[in-house]
Amino acid sequence: MPQPELLSFDPCTGDEIWRGPVADAAAVDAAVAAARAAFPAWAATPLDARIAVLRRFQEVVRGAADDFAALIARETGKPLWETKTEVASVVAKVDISITAHAERTGERSGEVAGIRQVLRHKPHGVLSVLGPYNFPAHLPNGHIVPALLAGNAIVLKPSELTPAVAAFMADCWRAAGLPEGLLNVVQGAGDTGRALAGHDGIDGLLFTGSATTGAALHRQFADTPHKILALEMGGNNPLIVWDVAEADLAATAALIVQSGYLSAGQRCTCARRLILQDSKAVEMIAHVVELIDRLIVGAPFDDPQPFMGPVIDNAAADRLIAGVDKLVASGGHAIRPLKRLVEGKPFLTPALIDATTSLERPDSELFGPVLQVIRVPDFEAALAEANDTRFGLSAGLIGGDQALYDRLWAASRAGVVNWNRPTNGAASNAPFGGIGLSGNHRPSAYYAADYCAWPVASLEADAPAGSIATGLRSDPA
Ligand code: NAD
Repeated sequence: MPQPELLSFDPCTGDEIWRGPVADAAAVDAAVAAARAAFPAWAATPLDARIAVLRRFQEVVRGAADDFAALIARETGKPLWETKTEVASVVAKVDISITAHAERTGERSGEVAGIRQVLRHKPHGVLSVLGPYNFPAHLPNGHIVPALLAGNAIVLKPSELTPAVAAFMADCWRAAGLPEGLLNVVQGAGDTGRALAGHDGIDGLLFTGSATTGAALHRQFADTPHKILALEMGGNNPLIVWDVAEADLAATAALIVQSGYLSAGQRCTCARRLILQDSKAVEMIAHVVELIDRLIVGAPFDDPQPFMGPVIDNAAADRLIAGVDKLVASGGHAIRPLKRLVEGKPFLTPALIDATTSLERPDSELFGPVLQVIRVPDFEAALAEANDTRFGLSAGLIGGDQALYDRLWAASRAGVVNWNRPTNGAASNAPFGGIGLSGNHRPSAYYAADYCAWPVASLEADAPAGSIATGLRSDPA
C-alpha cells in the first residue's frame, strides 16, 4: 500500500505549498530513537557550546528572514507585515531563553554551616513538541529553543496545516550546525501526534493548541505522571470597556479591534467577549463599527497591506460561520455579520455580534474574527461575566482607573490581565500561559525554562563531615 501523503495549500490561492509522507509508527519510532541516541552527548555539552549553536541558528534565521516570512505568509495567509514580526520573534527567542535559563534554571550555590548547598538543573531527555498552525514558527520555536538550551533532544510534530514552515525551520537548525538527531520532524495530523505522545521513548511533551486536544493529551498521559506535560491552550477571553473618556473613544475602538481581529482572530489571546457598560454601549459600538468597516481583509502580499488575511482554511471558515449562525439563531444580533468575502475562499469579514440576548452562548473558543458584545449594567456584573468561563488565558480592561483595574486584577482568573492594552499584547520576556482550560500551570515564554529542566538540590562537602549529636549511649552496650 502506498504511504499516505500530507499536503499543504495556500489558503488564498489553493496552490499546493508542500507535499511529503505522513510519518507512520515506524517513522515516529525512528525519530524518537534518533533523539534518544543524540541526547546524552548534547546534555553533556557545555552550556556555552549549546548557546553557540543557538546563536548560529539566530544568524541563519536573520539571513533567511525574507524567505521565511514569505513562506509563513503563503502557508497561513497571514499578511507579510505580520509574518515578518513572527520571524523577528523567532530570532528574539534565543536571547530571551538564554536569560530565562540563567535566571530560572541556572546554577546557584550557597553555604550553610560550612556545607555547600548547590542547585543545578538537568534536562528531561527527549521532549516532543506539538505545534498549532496560527504561529507555525514562533510557537513551536518557543518550546524548541529553551528545550535545546537546557540539553534536551526534540521530536517536533508541527500542525498538519503548516508542514512547510516546520521543514524550513528544521533546515535552519541544520544550517546552524545543530548535531544530527537533536531536532527530528515527524509530519502528520492527530494520529501522528497521538503516536508520538504515547511513545515510551519520550520523557515529556510540550503542546500548544486547542483545549480539546490538550485535554486528550492529558488523558493520554494519565498513566505516566513522571513525564512532563506542558499544555498551552486556547481562551474565551473577556475585554471589559468601562468609563472611557470621550477623548479616548477612538483609541479604545482601536484597542478593541486589535484585540478581536488581529491575525483574523486566530490568536489564543484574542478577545472573544467585549463586555460593555449598557448605558454607553451604543456610542462605543458606533466607534468600533466605523473602524471595522475600514479594515482591509486581503492576501498576504497585497499592496496596500491588509489588516488581516483569511482564516486558515475553508473548514475553519465553515465552523466559524456555523458558530455565529447559532449565536444569532438563539437571539443574538449581528451588528456586523461574519461573511465570506470570496465564494469558496476562507476570507471572512470581521464579525461583531451582540450576544447579550443569545439564549445559547457556548463557553467555547470561536477561533476567528468574531467578537461577541455583552452589555451589562454595572462593574460587578462585568466582572461576573468576565469570569463566566472555564478558560483563563487573557483578560483586559480599557478605561476606568487604577482602582477599577485592581478590582479586575483581583477577581480575574486569567494568566494575562492587561489595562488599556489589547488582550493579545503580551511581553515576550514575561511568562505566558493560562489556567482553567487554557493551561496546566506550566506557562511558557519566560517561564518555559521551568518545564525544560528539573532541579537537583545537593549538599556537598569536600570531605566526610558527620557526627551523631543525640541518642548515643556513652559506652557500647
Ligand atoms: P489543535 O489542537 O487542533 O492542534 C495542535 C496540534 O496538535 C497539531 O499539531 C495537531 O496535529 C495535534 N493534534 C491534534 N489532535 C491530536 C491528538 N488527539 N493527539 C495528539 N496531537 C493532536 O490546534 P490548532 O487548531 O492547530 O491551533 C489553534 C488552537 O491553538 C487554538 O485553540 C488556540 O487558542 C490555541 N493556541 C494556544 C496558544 C497558547 O500559547 N496558549 C497559542 C496559539 C494557539
